[in-house]
Amino acid sequence: MLAGLVLRKQGIEVEWITFETPFFSAVKARRASDTTGIPLTVKNITPVYLKMLKDPHCGYGKHMNPCLDCHALMFRLAGSIMPAAGFDFLFSGEVLGQRPMSQTRQSLRYVEKHSGFNGYILRPLSARRLPETMPEKEGLINRELLLDIAGRSRKPQIKLADEFGIKDYPAPAGGCLLTDKNYSNRLRDLFDHQKTYTEAELHLLAHGRHLRLDENAKIIVGRTQQDNENIIKYHNPKEDNVIKVNNYPGPIVLMPRGGKKDSIILAASICAGYSKAPDLAPVEVQAVTPQGHETIKVLGILPQEVKHLII
Ligand code: SF4
Repeated sequence: MLAGLVLRKQGIEVEWITFETPFFSAVKARRASDTTGIPLTVKNITPVYLKMLKDPHCGYGKHMNPCLDCHALMFRLAGSIMPAAGFDFLFSGEVLGQRPMSQTRQSLRYVEKHSGFNGYILRPLSARRLPETMPEKEGLINRELLLDIAGRSRKPQIKLADEFGIKDYPAPAGGCLLTDKNYSNRLRDLFDHQKTYTEAELHLLAHGRHLRLDENAKIIVGRTQQDNENIIKYHNPKEDNVIKVNNYPGPIVLMPRGGKKDSIILAASICAGYSKAPDLAPVEVQAVTPQGHETIKVLGILPQEVKHLII
């Protein structure tokens, strides 16, 4: 927001582009656009993002976050529409030294080089600490009116937001599932066991408990009503099995892309174990598969007995 407003203050027409995948959304960007009136384009980039995510040139951060290659890809995609849209350069709100991995001088340089738009990426908040960019050299921008913020403190940004009268701004960081430990474990497991993934499958990784039963079958057990709703929302009735205990409250259990009969029975027993059905008595469980409905009688397996299966 601040980078856009700093440029707009010197009379430059700015627009934003932001990207969506199952790992991060455009919610904050939409809010920022509403607050400032800066026009926003939102693009879903899941297929091209996944390709990069499988094998990022610079590797991952603490979890499955490929921050440097993520930034480079986003600039590359933004740059690819820049000339046709009639714009002269790219800019971002990155601040030198703000993040340990992605905003060091070296990282900013890496991103620029690998984006394919060397010299055309301006970081208005730190510009006076960085080499001059093409738009500055060409006189499109007055470098003197750009800023020299650096480091981890947010105080200068908070002060600047105040000067611009911006009160509604999102908390720094957060929001990318690739920086979440549990999500990253599940994603790695998915990469290890499947060659292709739908967007819905990637959304499912954020909901419920995930248990790997064997090389070909995993289940997702709803922990809350919200989990159960999301499991149903993102499941694929043409391929997945949905398992639920009859007559007692209990979780929805999803077996994405189905599984063999013995996996379904194991899933049904786990489902019964997580339900309110009495222990040590046979429980009726319903399995809905693409082939039809089936009722199975099983003995519940208690959650502590399947802890080792949790991904
Ligand atoms: S935190 Fe997520 S969205 Fe942000 S740069 Fe890293 S991988 Fe990309």
